[in-house]
Amino acid sequence: MSRFWSAATHGLTPYEPGEQPGLDNLVKLNTNENPYGPSPKALAAIRAAADETLRLYPDPDAGALKAALAAHHGASPAQIFVGNGSDEVLAHAFLGLLKHESPLWMPDVTYSFYPVYCGLYGIACRRIPLAADFALRAEDYFPRAGERAGAIVFPNPNAPTGCLLPLAGVERIVAANPDAVVLVDEAYIDFAGAGASAVALIGCHPNLLTVHTFSKSRALAGLRVGYAIGHPDLIAGLERVKNCFNSYPLDRLALAGALASVQDGGWFEESRRKIMASREALAGQLRALGFEAPPSAANFIFARHPAHDGARLAAALRQRAIIVRHFNTPGIEQFLRITVGDDKQCAALIAALREILQTD
Ligand SMILES: *Cc1c(COP(=O)(O)O)cnc(C)c1O
Repeated sequence: MSRFWSAATHGLTPYEPGEQPGLDNLVKLNTNENPYGPSPKALAAIRAAADETLRLYPDPDAGALKAALAAHHGASPAQIFVGNGSDEVLAHAFLGLLKHESPLWMPDVTYSFYPVYCGLYGIACRRIPLAADFALRAEDYFPRAGERAGAIVFPNPNAPTGCLLPLAGVERIVAANPDAVVLVDEAYIDFAGAGASAVALIGCHPNLLTVHTFSKSRALAGLRVGYAIGHPDLIAGLERVKNCFNSYPLDRLALAGALASVQDGGWFEESRRKIMASREALAGQLRALGFEAPPSAANFIFARHPAHDGARLAAALRQRAIIVRHFNTPGIEQFLRITVGDDKQCAALIAALREILQTD
C-alpha cells in the first residue's frame, strides 16, 4: 500500500505465477514447462541474432514470424496476431474484444489469470460451473431466456483440469453465439492429439479467436512469445490495442528464435510425442497409488488422493525437493497440478509419493 498509488492500483488483484525458485537439483513440476528444451535451431538463431543489429528496433509487424505461423496453420498472415507471451495476447483480447455490456462467460474452474484481466479492465464476468467430472458442457454456453454472453473465454484443454472439449463441442458454442467473440485459449492443444484444435474452424466462424503459446509445446517459456489466430477483423482489433500499448512487443531475439522454432517441425513433433507418452504412463502410476485424475489432454495431470490432503501432499513433496502446483481455491483445494516431466523427474515424483503415502 502506498499513498502514491492510483485508486485503480489500490483496487487490483494481481495474478500469482507459480514460483521460479533459484535452487538447483529441484524437480520442478509446477509451471508446465517442457523438460526437453527448445529446438537447437531456435537456440542457434537466437545466438546469431545477438549481434550489432540489436541497436535497431525490431520489425513492429513481425512479418517473417507471422508468415511462418500462417504457413504452419494453413492460415493467412492477416489472420495472425503475435505478442509478448500469450498472456499479453490475452490481455489485449480482453480489452479489445471481450469487454462488452453483457458479461463475459467463462468456466468456474479455469485459468486464474482471466478474472485478473476482468478486474484490470472492469469487465463483468459470469462463472459457469463445470460438470462434476470437470467436463465443460457446450450447452451451458448457449444463449438462454433473456440472457446471452457479451463474449466467451475458456482454455481447451482446460487449465488446471487438463480436460478436453472435443472440437464438435467447441463448434456448437461458436455457432450458438454468432454475435459474441469466443476465445479458445489453446495453450495446451499441441498435447491433445490430432483434430482437436479449433484453428480448423477459423475460416467458417468470424467470431472465433484461438490463442497459442510457445511456452509449453515449444519449450520457450523464457522467450515470451504467444499468438492469436482469427478473422482479420478480430486481428485488426488486437493490432489497434497493441499499437496503443507497445509497438515492439517481440524483440529481435524472440522473433529469430520463434521463427526457427516454427521451422523445426521435427523437434516439435518429437518433444510433444514424448510428453504425451509420459503423461499416459504417469497417470497410470498415479492411479495405481490411489490418486483420482480426470483424463488429461495437456502436459500436466490434475490429481487428488481421497485419503490425503492436497496441501499436505504438496508440502511433503516440497520437503523432498519436488514442487508441484497447489491452488488454495475452494472446490479444487484437494488437487495437485503436476507437470509431466522427463522420465527421471516422473520416477522421482512417484518414488516420493509412494514414501509420503506410507508415512502420512
Ligand atoms: C501457460 C498458459 C498461458 C500463458 O502462456 P504464456 O505464453 O507463457 O504467457 C496462457 N493460458 C493458459 C491456459 C496457460 O496455462
